[in-house]
Amino acid sequence: MPAPAGRHFLQIPGPTNVPDRVLRAMDRPTIDHRGPEFQRLGREVLEGLKAVFRTRQPVVIYPASGTGAWEAALVNTLSPGDRVLMVETGQFASLWRGLAERLGLAPEFLSIGDDPWRRGVDPQAIAARLAADTRREIRAVCVVHNETSTGVTSRIAEVRRAIDDTGHPALLMVDTISSLGSIDYRHDEWGVDVTIAGSQKGLMLPPGLSFNAVSEKALAAAESARMPRSYWSWKEMLGPNASGFFPFTPATNLLFGLREALAMLQEEGLDEVFARHQRHAEATRRAVRAWGLELQCVDEREHSSALTAVRMPDGHDEAAFRKVVLEHFDLSLGSGLGKVAGRVFRIGHLGDFNDLTLMATLAGCEMGLALAGVPHRGGGVAAAMGYLREVHANAPAGRFVTRS
Ligand SMILES: *Cc1c(COP(=O)(O)O)cnc(C)c1O
Repeated sequence: MPAPAGRHFLQIPGPTNVPDRVLRAMDRPTIDHRGPEFQRLGREVLEGLKAVFRTRQPVVIYPASGTGAWEAALVNTLSPGDRVLMVETGQFASLWRGLAERLGLAPEFLSIGDDPWRRGVDPQAIAARLAADTRREIRAVCVVHNETSTGVTSRIAEVRRAIDDTGHPALLMVDTISSLGSIDYRHDEWGVDVTIAGSQKGLMLPPGLSFNAVSEKALAAAESARMPRSYWSWKEMLGPNASGFFPFTPATNLLFGLREALAMLQEEGLDEVFARHQRHAEATRRAVRAWGLELQCVDEREHSSALTAVRMPDGHDEAAFRKVVLEHFDLSLGSGLGKVAGRVFRIGHLGDFNDLTLMATLAGCEMGLALAGVPHRGGGVAAAMGYLREVHANAPAGRFVTRS
């Protein structure tokens, strides 16, 4: 079979499309990771990452998928059998909990309401659980900022305030794998102890890097934490990182790409990047509502700007619909995961993404709904266009498109 003409539309919520600038930056000979050129690169990315996490504290880079950084956060700060409070928001929260269990921790999984996969973390429920923990046995609260299986973004600043109100000393760990670089996030201001992130979503890189941003309090916890760790050890990393090096072979070419991606985010400006994703998320929701389909997220305060999860009408399978869209239009949409497999499909609009990428994606969805025989109304594409047109009409020309 010949390869399809044009570019594949990779509109799953990660991995995301890698910009040409990043591809070009990685397309270079690998350099000596003990030499001076690497040292400059190492220093630049370790420092440059801090702006994206909005932190002045260290960020550790692992050659690993996001799952590795989940494990790193837990093994550096906790001891065998420690209680951790996790919250059932969807598939990724469930996977993190499973990982904690297999490591020999004692996760408690807070599950709120009759359909916890349609809302984010309830700050008051966390506060209530911590207040009841009078013996202070819970060592950490672990939450997912943007639940990629449901398109729900939790309100981390409110979670922080709720923890503070109880005076409980638990660490706060936050998974930002699908939000960092697409949705506003503030490691220092929100008092997060460990932020977990990955390369292949908002950072516009291929899969293969993941990150821990680490607070003073987390570093102090690491001093007495007894979980076995070697490869993931922050201490082993932070020593060589201080001079720009790594304790083992780093993913050199991915770091060239990271340097370029950080430059792109900085040139556009993080606030602009977040506003762009909000605009695309709003346009997508208008399309979904016009189709007469239901959003998975039910709380207006928690709609994700990185992706939109859409519920299929009863009796219709998302996998069959996505197959039609892929086979006809070479467009990949996100599948339903875990408990919502078969019921929900996901439109990724994070990373390197613009107004017309969105319009093509929505057109593929709308044509696919018709071809797959999914009951819906037309007019979703028109509704999204109407919204984008309105935003552009109120902005000076060149506001959203800048070419240097
Ligand atoms: C993608 C994702 C993960 C898993 O990351 P891997 O790189 O696949 O290990 C974890 N959490 C969230 C919120 C994600 O979106």
